[in-house]
Amino acid sequence: MIAMDENDISFFKDGLRLDGRRADELRPVKIEVGILARADGSCYIEMGGNKVIAAVYGPREVHPRHLQEVTRAIVRYRYNMASFSVEERKRPGPDRRSYELSKVSREALEPVILTSFFPRSVIDVFVEVLQADAGTRTAGINAAAVALADAGIPMKSMISSCAAGKVGDTIVLDPMKEEDNFGQADLPIAMTPNGDITLMQMDGNLTPDEFGQAVTMAMKGAKDIYELQRRALVAKYSQISTDSAREE
Ligand code: ADP
Repeated sequence: MIAMDENDISFFKDGLRLDGRRADELRPVKIEVGILARADGSCYIEMGGNKVIAAVYGPREVHPRHLQEVTRAIVRYRYNMASFSVEERKRPGPDRRSYELSKVSREALEPVILTSFFPRSVIDVFVEVLQADAGTRTAGINAAAVALADAGIPMKSMISSCAAGKVGDTIVLDPMKEEDNFGQADLPIAMTPNGDITLMQMDGNLTPDEFGQAVTMAMKGAKDIYELQRRALVAKYSQISTDSAREE
């Protein structure tokens, strides 16, 4: 196989990206709240070609018990990519990448969770990637934040996540797989609606100017995603209140 690098690929055609988007455009997003009957909270999200489910359990008793914290709940986050989620079968089970993504995703959400309300307990977040197309960590965080709200976990605010990247010397929002794999840089962030950043990672190289541009673009993307998360939660809970009003 011939190795490809960014110079072999043209990322733009007639000023648009290969999937027809403008540089500052998100992929289509679909969010469904409460799709799993056994979880305390759940969410299904599609962000472009990504299909991700998040399930939240708890607050509940911690096992093993030596992990208990006397002043707060602990938060566990498990990111997992299904073996059928990518073109070539992914070897099942945890690997270095999934440990890293689980850690940074937990740290993206933990600052807004009011863990001191639930000492000695655990809040478990499971994220399953069913189909991957770059940006699975951001899709997972978006779904997990909605699932936490659906579980009724007290939070200071929502968390919304989005990446920006650099391809063909241009800063683009929400890179898809070809852009992520063959592009020059990838910068995922997560933030509160007020713009407090809880996750920032960077792969590749950006000049200080490009960095500023990418952060601004990713923050605008996250803000737009926040609106969709809010709407999905309102849609579910206004439906429930209409149903219960009808029953009375
Ligand atoms: P993210 O999904 O958050 O962008 P990465 O940058 O590590 O995380 O991965 C980018 C994309 O590369 C993934 O969304 C997926 O499409 C693909 N990918 C990641 N790991 C594998 C793997 N083991 N096999 C095949 N494709 C993978």
